[in-house]
Amino acid sequence: MSQSLSPEYLTSLGQQFGTPLYVYHAEKIKEQYEKLTTAFRNSNTVFFYACKALTNVNVLKYVCSLGANVDCSSINEVKLALYAGFPKERVLYTSNGIGFDEIAEAVSLGVIINIDSLSNLEKFGQKYGGTYPVGVRLRPNIMAGGNLKISTGHDKSKFGIPVDQVEKILALVDSYNLDIADLHIHTGSEIKDVDVFVKGIEILFELIPQFRSLRFIDLGGGFKVPYKDGDAQTDIQLLADKVNAAFANHPNPGGRPLQVWFEPGKFLVSECGYFITKVNVLKETDAATFASVDSGFNHLIRPMFYDAYHRIENISNPNGAPRRYSVVGNICETDTFAWDRTINEVREGDYLVFYNAGAYGFEMSSNFNSRYKPAEVLIKDGQAHLIRRRDVFEDLLRNQVEL
Ligand SMILES: *Cc1c(COP(=O)(O)O)cnc(C)c1O
Repeated sequence: MSQSLSPEYLTSLGQQFGTPLYVYHAEKIKEQYEKLTTAFRNSNTVFFYACKALTNVNVLKYVCSLGANVDCSSINEVKLALYAGFPKERVLYTSNGIGFDEIAEAVSLGVIINIDSLSNLEKFGQKYGGTYPVGVRLRPNIMAGGNLKISTGHDKSKFGIPVDQVEKILALVDSYNLDIADLHIHTGSEIKDVDVFVKGIEILFELIPQFRSLRFIDLGGGFKVPYKDGDAQTDIQLLADKVNAAFANHPNPGGRPLQVWFEPGKFLVSECGYFITKVNVLKETDAATFASVDSGFNHLIRPMFYDAYHRIENISNPNGAPRRYSVVGNICETDTFAWDRTINEVREGDYLVFYNAGAYGFEMSSNFNSRYKPAEVLIKDGQAHLIRRRDVFEDLLRNQVEL
């Protein structure tokens, strides 16, 4: 059965904790994780939670307790993951464009590292040679994902070392006796077509025989989840079947079995999240009826940044007559969450909830307009726990140096 929180319960949370409020439902994360492990149960596959989607330390601890590994995109995420209790063997740092000092720090912390430039790979070789295993992030030059902003594997993307430069990687492997443990590709987000992953594997199969110490193949993240009714999603069982078939048809070099890694972010935490806001003002105009909520792109930027669609429901008036609204925020920028959206009649003071708010919601929030970041609540075992207090005025002055 699919886990979800009812409008009545969300309303009570809005009343108890105030708005704007992020709410995460732990058991939904578990449900998603189990979809993955169930689909891949007959293969040697490991899942690394791409934690940049949501890094609250309580979420990290929960994901750790499920048995997942973790993928980090900065040295601070690495430190948060270790702090949350992930053992270093389960922490992967997939870097891009970082200074070598962060790579050296990751080595000293003992975590798994993917390097995404020839320059850092060479520095790595000079410093560590073959004494510390390392992965290489490749750019497969394939287009995938929802749109250009979230596609990372195409031939103009900054991410990874282009596969056409593999000779240069191999030259570094030779020069420094590098122990290349994994090859990594991550082609983007919201990939509904599982054949994109298969295409990535096929590109890797041509390279695999040239990397003699390879143990792992890392296929990245980007599984799509539905944002609205009828939305496509990645068919995880089909993905598992195709990945298994692809590996069955390509015997591993030297007969050594390769373990497959994935790095799901959005898939694990998108649907667990709800963002509850309150309607401050209703404004009737010729063009639209605006419902202004106590938030903006300072709290949830995906609609403005990616044109992302988030389902919005009036949980205070579920039986109200449907009407059309432009849902906007309260900051001094155009911050439209939804243009001309049908919602049950909205009154000032009503709670509007945004669904799929777990991934890249709070995580991309800011203090723009000197507004407070929202509070976060985790629902676990039927209990609501405050896991981040709302900012207070002192937080706005914190770190400022007064002259
Ligand atoms: C962001 C990211 C992911 C996760 O992407 P989702 O779309 O959230 O699944 C995985 N791997 C890497 C390297 C990333 O940068």
